[in-house]
Parts: sequence; structure tokens; C-alpha cells
Amino acid sequence: MKDRFQELLNNACNKIKIGINDEQLAQFYSFYQLLLEWNGRMNLTAITDERDVIYKHFIDSIAVLKYVEFKENSAVIDVGCGAGFPGIPLKIMQPEIKLTLMDSVNKKLDFVREAASVLGLSDVSCIHGRAEDLGRDKELRNSFDFCVSRAVSELAVLTELCLPFIKKQSLFISYKGGSPEEELNKAEFAIKELGGKLEKVEKFILPETDMERSFILIRSVEQTPQKYPRKAGIPKKNPLYEK
Ligand code: SAM
Repeated sequence: MKDRFQELLNNACNKIKIGINDEQLAQFYSFYQLLLEWNGRMNLTAITDERDVIYKHFIDSIAVLKYVEFKENSAVIDVGCGAGFPGIPLKIMQPEIKLTLMDSVNKKLDFVREAASVLGLSDVSCIHGRAEDLGRDKELRNSFDFCVSRAVSELAVLTELCLPFIKKQSLFISYKGGSPEEELNKAEFAIKELGGKLEKVEKFILPETDMERSFILIRSVEQTPQKYPRKAGIPKKNPLYEK
């Protein structure tokens, strides 16, 4: 099973023209095994078929590396990491980044903590809490070179949760679906209000699936005003739309 998995993953990486070595293939296999094991005890993912996990979780998480260079020692935060996507696959591919995984559900962090340990990943911190609260923490605010986030919230809300974490001139990367235009329009005011600027939208078709992905790249051009993020729950209840 291990050989078959690694061959499938290697082929998938070839398809998207991203190189992968034997150690990384083995780490992804261990991660897959752990995901299946823990998924029996708690609800981590509905996707468990080998090929689906490879494409819809692993390849989907790392495809951003085609467009963005995560320089050595970059501090990267994954907001709402769940079972570790996209953060853990990114860390496997770029072991020299410093990764912070954050989620409001501690049980999910138990899983990613265990995964980081079993996979032998160093420089991985796991932080439990809501992004609205942690975005006000002095240690975390304006501290990261990249923020990544997949499947957490609509863009107007997510921008308020994510932009406070990154340094000025740094990048927030939101993983969205194939047609993000309406969401982008609704988020235009929030992005500006929070000190961001839409830099680029990179569209990508996940091979072997019918899934399209848009990576929304938002640059922090001004410090996020101190009044953001608002109290936990408010960004979602009352998103920063243009009045
Ligand atoms: N990013 C993972 C993925 O793509 O598989 C998980 C996506 S899951 C649908 C959304 C995750 O975001 C959940 O684990 C949830 O606990 C977390 N989350 C939602 N709102 C949050 C908030 N305000 N602060 C921190 N985590 C949050």
C-alpha cells in the first residue's frame, strides 16, 4: 500500500510540476495513515479515499508553491488549520519554514501536534483559540511573513481574521473555489479597510478532479487598524461590507 500511495503521489506532483523527494513521499504516507487512524475516533475529514486525499488535500495544499515562494525561515500561520491543511503539506514541502497551526477546536490541534511529532517536523507551533482573540495577542499580531487559510470563512470575514497576523508588505493567501469573483467583490471594502491590497488571483485546476482552485493573494500595505479584529463572532455576524 505504501509503494502504491507514494507512486500515486509522485505522479500527482509530476502532473503539477512540483518536485518531491523520497523523505517527503514517506512523510505524506505517514500523514495519510495518521489521518485515517484518527478519523476513526474523531471527525477530521470526509475525504478518505487514497487518490482523493492525494489530490484534494495534499496536492491542493501544495499547489500554491507554483505561484508563491516561501523563503527560508519565513514565519507562516495557517488560520483554521483543521486537520492541518494546507499547513502540514506546505511544511513537508518547505521544511525550513516556521509554521504556526491555529484552530479554535483543541481536539484538531491534538491531531496536528501528533502528526508534526510523528513526521519529525521541527519548528511547528500549535495554538488553540479563535483568530479574533489571537489576532490581538502582542506576540502574534503583525508577526508573520505569510498567512494561509483554506475553507474557513467567506473572504470579507476571513480577511479580518487573517490580516492582523501578518507584517506589513507580507502576504495573506486565501484558498478559494474556481469562481471567487462575487466573494471578491463583497470583500473589496474589507480588504481596503483592513490595510490590504488585492495583488493577484491565481487559478488552478486540480488534475484528476473536477475541482478548480483560486489562490487569492492579498498584500498587507498598511498596518491593520487596532480596532480589528472585532470581538469573536462579530466578523461573521456583521461582515465588513461597504455600506
Ligand atoms: N483548513 C482546514 C481544511 O481546509 O481542511 C479546515 C477547514 S474546516 C472547514 C474550518 C476550520 O476552521 C475548523 O477546524 C474550525 O474549527 C476553524 N475555525 C473556524 N472559525 C475559526 C476562528 N474564528 N478561529 C480559529 N479557527 C476557526
